[in-house]
Amino acid sequence: MVFIGIDVGGTKIACGVTDEEGVILSRVSTGTLAHRPFAAVVRDMADAALEALAQSGHEIADVGAVGVGIPGVAENVNGTVIFCTNLGWENVPLRRELNRYIDKPVFIDNDATLAGLAESVAGVSRGAASSVFITLGTGVGGGIILNGRPWAGAQGAASELGHMTLCIDGVPCSCGKKGCLERYCSATALIRMGREAAAEHPDSLILTMAGGEPDNINGKIVVDAARQGDPAALSVFDRYTTYLALAVNNVVTFLDPEVIVLGGGVSQAGAFLADAVREKVPGLLLFKALSFGRLELAVLGNEAGIIGAAMLGRLMRGGETL
Ligand SMILES: [Zn+2]
Repeated sequence: MVFIGIDVGGTKIACGVTDEEGVILSRVSTGTLAHRPFAAVVRDMADAALEALAQSGHEIADVGAVGVGIPGVAENVNGTVIFCTNLGWENVPLRRELNRYIDKPVFIDNDATLAGLAESVAGVSRGAASSVFITLGTGVGGGIILNGRPWAGAQGAASELGHMTLCIDGVPCSCGKKGCLERYCSATALIRMGREAAAEHPDSLILTMAGGEPDNINGKIVVDAARQGDPAALSVFDRYTTYLALAVNNVVTFLDPEVIVLGGGVSQAGAFLADAVREKVPGLLLFKALSFGRLELAVLGNEAGIIGAAMLGRLMRGGETL
């Protein structure tokens, strides 16, 4: 039996077919073109999924289920996407629409949650009973996996780590609040802090590496300048990893998971990032005599979306434990 995983992003729809262990057999991508009507986007999702199925050498009869990851909130009773800002979707019947083209069980979940599920099935948190995935991208997403299953919450709104308040009266967030965690821990935040530091220290390596153009400053430049020992960049990196350690500490304090996985663009900073956070977390722990869960970097990269969606299908279809 095989599973179809569809990862819907603001710019790209990635479809793939996996085996029962989450190994990708084939994949097909297409543009989301999110400004189009919902039905047109779903039709392209189905076309790409069926093309991937044909490429895998399997037939529709071999498909156990279809999983879909979205950058938003969904419910799986009726298969409705409740809210998805990037795509402009609000209460859309994704399962019903997709079933017009693919007559298989369809399950939907948040993309960060599914990336966490993927890592817990086929990645760095494989075999862990509990894990929390933190994605450090444009925003900050979270995924909670308990006993091998995603924890979506009673209303489907759980694990929105990015919008936990980290600073009272802090930096305004797109959600309308101030001081949300993602204003300090996202790639966007790292870039903002990098630009502020470059403005304050024009002789900094950050600005040199950006060709003297503040608009060119990105997260990688800030990290690379810090790696080379530039004082302004090191100060930004220290502040950023302190915020990240506080985020990890919040997760540990609340859930104490076996593994905490850092994913998303900033996690490409690798051991330089992970080691800095690992060093800072112990000092923040409530129970200092106890250790905390393993802090790891995600290993599945862009494939996590397809794998997680496909494994959601496998999990929800049979109700079996992974
Ligand atoms: Zn927010």
